[in-house]
Amino acid sequence: MQVYGYGVTEKGSNFVPVVFDRTDLRAGEVAIDITHCGVCHSDLHQVDNDWGNTNYPCVPGHEIAGVVTAIGDGVKKFKVGDRVGVGCMIDSCQECESCRNNDEQYCSGPKSCTLTYNGTKAGDGSNTYGGYTDSIIVREEFVLKVPDAISNEVVGPILCAGITTYQPMKHFGLKKGDTLGVAGIGGLGHIAIQIGKALGARVVALTTSPGKRDEIMKLGADDVLITTDAEAMANAAQSLDMMVNTIPVKHDINPYVTLMKPNSMLLLVGNMNGFDNVESGPLVFNRIGIAGSLIGGIKDTQEILDLCAKHDIAPLTKVVTIQEIDAIYDELRNGNPRYRHVIDMKSLKDDADGKGKAREIASPTRGEVVGRAA
Ligand SMILES: [Zn+2]
Ligand SMILES: [Zn+2]
Repeated sequence: MQVYGYGVTEKGSNFVPVVFDRTDLRAGEVAIDITHCGVCHSDLHQVDNDWGNTNYPCVPGHEIAGVVTAIGDGVKKFKVGDRVGVGCMIDSCQECESCRNNDEQYCSGPKSCTLTYNGTKAGDGSNTYGGYTDSIIVREEFVLKVPDAISNEVVGPILCAGITTYQPMKHFGLKKGDTLGVAGIGGLGHIAIQIGKALGARVVALTTSPGKRDEIMKLGADDVLITTDAEAMANAAQSLDMMVNTIPVKHDINPYVTLMKPNSMLLLVGNMNGFDNVESGPLVFNRIGIAGSLIGGIKDTQEILDLCAKHDIAPLTKVVTIQEIDAIYDELRNGNPRYRHVIDMKSLKDDADGKGKAREIASPTRGEVVGRAA
């Protein structure tokens, strides 16, 4: 199946229109016409090779919403016309302990989990291409059902920012009445506030930007703590039962530790760059844990979609066209917008000009569908 999309062919270059083939639909798989795809900060990191692991050409997009156009033999959960989503993963071994525990993101099987883009398919090593494209084919187990109450424009960010912040709250046992701190109020944090409220917590937003206060309160936060205000920080010492820290860069973690109650957990979901110094005394004296967490498994991703539908949780989004993509990346490089850009793929499908000059790139394969007859 020939696919049209936008990708980056080498580090530092702009997006260009590309075409490639996706392996035709097989047993156990679902073909999806993509209507929308969110633009995630990780897309930018990957395109810029900030993590040193980018395989070019890179065709990003792991916040995919669309409609089922065909199903392979044996597919039971989906039918043509269903509205569906695809998040950060498209495959895993389905056999290891993590997969059996519905934590496919930690798959340790010989094939590991396969990321939706810039993922390496064990078997032939081909590079996966994601959702800045008109269509995708994914094995049934990695396709999410979109509840009626959620429009395709807002699905994408729930599949990434939503699950990333929900999963650690669930895993580490956030309880009704607990006080939850959410540090960093951008793409992840603004959804985390809404999820924390839906789970019955009292939510305190931690930010360096006093200008965001009104907007944060509108999201449902009970309080806003300005982390550069020393007096406010001192008054809030030992007040949090849990913190979800979404700050995406290296920062001083020690002031945040002072906010934690004894026997609490400070959870990292944004910073991949480490810390210069973590004082261990306050951790030991108050039995405070610091843990990391990566996205979430498919079962929990479906759960957060359903929870968002039930509680009217919606990411703030701005619908954009694929032709604006370079400008959007520049905007992301220069700051942290308070909404998520979501590409309307109608702009891609109508892109006659781009199609006329699209570059052909190597085609990814999807390997075998583990545990199924091909
Ligand atoms: Zn993402
Ligand atoms: Zn596995």
